[in-house]
Amino acid sequence: MASFDGLPPLRDVIQRHGLDARKALGQNFLLDLNLTQKIARTAGPLEGVTVFEVGPGPGGLTRAILALGAAKVIAVERDARCLPALAEIADHYPGRLEVIEGDALKTDFEALAPQRPVRIIANLPYNVGTQLLINWLLPRQWPPFWESLTLMFQKEVGQRIVAEADDNHYGRLGVLCGWRCQSHMAFDVPPQAFTPPPKVTSSVVHLIPRAQPLPCDSDALERVTLAAFGQRRKMLRQSLKPLGGEALLNKADIDPSRRAETLSVEEFVRIANLVG
Ligand code: SAM
Repeated sequence: MASFDGLPPLRDVIQRHGLDARKALGQNFLLDLNLTQKIARTAGPLEGVTVFEVGPGPGGLTRAILALGAAKVIAVERDARCLPALAEIADHYPGRLEVIEGDALKTDFEALAPQRPVRIIANLPYNVGTQLLINWLLPRQWPPFWESLTLMFQKEVGQRIVAEADDNHYGRLGVLCGWRCQSHMAFDVPPQAFTPPPKVTSSVVHLIPRAQPLPCDSDALERVTLAAFGQRRKMLRQSLKPLGGEALLNKADIDPSRRAETLSVEEFVRIANLVG
């Protein structure tokens, strides 16, 4: 049976190209094209947009992004076995899919995209997802080259990304994301939606860059959150001792008996600007 885009069903593609999933590459494939379309739609209108995708695998999400009208998809895939399957999609959408074989962690995405606007959409390999997100969040120049990130993570990581103060999941990732982006959990995806099913539930998270994040040096913010959340149960006067402890907190007008998880992003920025 043909799919919505006239390309063969993903199960056939996987079988024909011998794409048995490899755990070391974080391969949990999405074969339901309704679900991949739902993820792609979460990114907003795609007409005229260049989309970066990390880890297209057999191409389920890639096909949804192309069918929804993205001007171009630039996909970075580490597993060379997937390239012939992706070449079939590229033939079906002439000039609109460029596949780069390589490691996304070593890819300079900004340099690859001459055409703006850019959105990033990915069902990320779990072992590199958080690091990729941090790389996209930390460029010196802001706003960044991308307009939005629509990313699938393990649900627990998604909860850490969107967490705010006084939330159990709030930590370094929540402060960093909250500083530079507005983010929300779009929806959960149960394990059985993947082939093979992972052990945990996943979530799609959508982030858009703040136009004017509070001025702050990201290295200083990292140092403060590392110290504060490194001992998250301790009072800040204790956990931030190496950076100035009570005197630093008094200067920032923050009660030294508070704990890391109660501080807003703005308060972390205030401290970081004093240690910077
Ligand atoms: N997008 C496909 C889907 O939704 O069915 C596959 C998603 S699967 C969770 C992750 C994909 O990322 C795999 O195709 C894997 O080979 C690829 N991958 C793993 N590590 C990578 C890396 N460092 N750089 C680029 N791709 C990577």
